[in-house]
Parts: sequence; structure tokens; C-alpha cells
Amino acid sequence: MDFAVKEEQTAILDMTRRFSRERIRPRVREYDREERFPLDLYAEMAQLGLTGGVIPEQYGGAGMDHQTYALMVMEMAETCQAMAAAATWASGVGGVSVLRFGTEEQKQKYLVPLAKGEGPVAFALTETHTGSDVASMKTRAVRDGDDYILNGTKVWISMIESCKWILTFATVDAGAGRKGITAFLLEPDWPGITRTPFKNKVGFRPMETGELVLQDVRVPASNRLGAEGEGFKIAMSSVENGRLGVASRCVGMIRACLNLATEYAQTRTTFGEPIGKRQLVQSKITDMKVAYETARLLVLQTAWQKDQGDRARVNASMAKMYASDALMRAAEDAMQIHGAYGCSDEYDIGRYWRDAKFMQTIEGSNEIHRTLIAEYQLGYR
Ligand SMILES: Cc1cc2nc3c(=O)[nH]c(=O)nc-3n(C[C@H](O)[C@H](O)[C@H](O)COP(=O)(O)OP(=O)(O)OC[C@H]3O[C@@H](n4cnc5c(N)ncnc54)[C@H](O)[C@@H]3O)c2cc1C
Repeated sequence: MDFAVKEEQTAILDMTRRFSRERIRPRVREYDREERFPLDLYAEMAQLGLTGGVIPEQYGGAGMDHQTYALMVMEMAETCQAMAAAATWASGVGGVSVLRFGTEEQKQKYLVPLAKGEGPVAFALTETHTGSDVASMKTRAVRDGDDYILNGTKVWISMIESCKWILTFATVDAGAGRKGITAFLLEPDWPGITRTPFKNKVGFRPMETGELVLQDVRVPASNRLGAEGEGFKIAMSSVENGRLGVASRCVGMIRACLNLATEYAQTRTTFGEPIGKRQLVQSKITDMKVAYETARLLVLQTAWQKDQGDRARVNASMAKMYASDALMRAAEDAMQIHGAYGCSDEYDIGRYWRDAKFMQTIEGSNEIHRTLIAEYQLGYR
């Protein structure tokens, strides 16, 4: 395994850093406050080729290897995790599901524009009664001639307002558990679809997270992704990519917490000395530094494994769980170092702290990852 940043990666990372600092940083506080996703910045990102990620060039992607992709996402998340999420849409669960299981027509219609950055995708799996227990979903799909009729409600779905298409899941046989779950590609303006973003969220404020109601939505059978009953497999085989993206966002955010805390500790003076001179503050800086380096290594190891063409089921879980837990601790410590100023929205650290919490919940809650890692280790899976 070689984790040194290669010459060919430097150009992409330099460009991402410049874009993040010059274009995103001046605006992030404002759009976060207004709970608005900056579609104009996303279009700029697309022009720079930063939305295509690991998707092959033949399908509009950038054809990056997973390590370059992970480093690029970290770089962007240091400034804004929501914009970094946009760099993962094609390479995450939405895009990769279509790449692996889509027909050629579905790839051309849905994957190509996503990879080119022509519009967001929404991945709609979670329902009101449960997010973790996917197999107990209540959304139903009933075959009607050449169509399916979908009914159900999905909640906590990100990019629900400006998405250009939606990958969702419904059961064709409620008694069959995961074997009944089937994936569908929907277009947001189809009759029977209602989308309502939640407002005043604690974190992920620009990400248009909300409710998707499906009432007698007629979906052509040609918009079924994969076979009937293959939905659970589709969702689970693409989550590794989703988890790599989330873990990379966490690493970038840890670096931001470390840098913000370092700068503050060097300049804030109490009792005649910078607080950075105090061992209790230094201890927090040390923990953040170690968290950053170790989380980054786990993420790069997962990316390396994917680059070998292997599955990375356990590593992706470890990277996501470890990086998001480490991020939560780093954000907490960085907030503490900021004292009262952590409470001010004139300082950035509060945003990282608010967003950090939900990194422990999305793409599988950390309790689910903890269970999965142990079950593999114990031979129960
Ligand atoms: C900001 C944000 C954005 C999101 N975006 C999306 C999206 O785009 N698409 C989408 O489909 N979903 C999305 N989600 C939903 C997210 O995936 C779910 O919240 C997550 O899967 C957990 O589901 P839940 O909230 O229903 O919690 P539950 O499954 O009800 O779990 C509640 C608590 O119990 C714990 N728990 C559950 N089962 C077990 C178990 N077997 N063992 C131990 N502990 C357990 C969980 O870890 C959690 O702490 C988003 C959520 C948030 C907060």
C-alpha cells in the first residue's frame, strides 16, 4: 500500500483546494444559515470535473481511482461537508447502483447527467418507523401491466428539492422481507410525488433533507433498477461506496476542527499566555491530530482495497464508524477550546460540531457498524 500523494493527484487536489478556499469558503456561512444548497457552486464544481469521481469517463465520470477520489472529498469537506457530499453523489449509492445494476438506457438517462454534475440525485431508503431495519419497509410496489404503482412515505431524504431523479425502494411482497425489496428510478415531477424539505434542522442545513410521499405513483417497468427482489442487494452492495464518501468527508472535517482549534489556541490569551501553552488544551490538540492521521489511514486503506477491485465491506464500515466517532470527539474538543465563541455563528466551529453528530447516523448508524464489524470478526456473517 502506497499512501503518498502522487504527482498526478496533486493537480486535482490543488484545484479542489483553490476552489474550496476561493469560491466555497466566502459563501458557506451564508448558505448554511439560509438552509439553501448553492446550485451555482455545484455547477462550477461540475465544470472543474469534480462531480464525476470514480465513475468511468464513458458514463460522464472523471474515472478517478478511489484514493484520489477520497483525497479530493477530504479536501472539499475541510471547507464544507455539504459541497463535499455533492462530489460523492455519482460515486456513492445513487450513481454506483445505476452503474452496477442499470440497463444501458438507464445509465445514459440518469447516470451520465449525474456524473457530469447536471443535477443532484436523492437516495430514498429511510421510512418513518425505521432507518436501520431496511427490510421492514412499508412502501409498496404493485405491478399493473407495464407499470408499477408505488405508495409509501420516505423521510430524511437529502436533496429532495432540487434532485433531478430519485433512487427509491419498495416491496413487491410485504411477507418476503428483504427478498421483496425492489429498486426504482423516479422523476421528481411525476404525478403523485410530493416533496417537502424539513426546516430549521440542527445540522446538514444546506442539504434539503425532507419527506417524500408517493401516492399512487405510476412507474414504468423500464424504470425498475435490477430485478424484482434485488433492491436490498443493490442498496447494500453500493453502500461501501457511500461509506467511503462519508468517511472521507469526516476526515476533512477533523482537519478543519484541528486547524481552527490550533489557530484559536495560538491566539487566545488567558492569564498572560496563549491557551495553547496549557497542557489540558495541548492534550485536546494531540487527540485531534492523532484522530486525523488514524482516520485518514483507515479511509485510504479502504480506498486502496476498492482500487484492487475487492469488496471492502468491513473496512468501509470501520472507516465510516471510526472517522465519524473521531470527528465527533474532535468537534467537541475544538468547541471547548473556543469557549463561549463556539456558540457564535460568526465562528465556523459550531457548524462542524452540528454536522459532526449526524455523520454518526447516516450511511448506517455507528451502532449498526459496530455490530457488523463484530459479527464478521466472530464468524456470525
Ligand atoms: C441529516 C440526515 C440526512 C439523511 N439523509 C438520508 C438520505 O438521503 N436518504 C435516506 O434514505 N436516509 C437518510 N437519512 C436517514 C438515515 O439514514 C437514518 O437516520 C439512519 O439509517 C438511522 O435510522 P433512524 O434514524 O430511523 O434510526 P433507528 O433505526 O430508529 O435507530 C434509532 C437508534 O437505535 C439504534 N439501533 C437501531 N437498531 C439497532 C440495533 N440492531 N442494535 C443497536 N442499536 C440499534 C440506532 O443506531 C440509533 O441510535 C438521513 C438522516 C439525517 C439525520
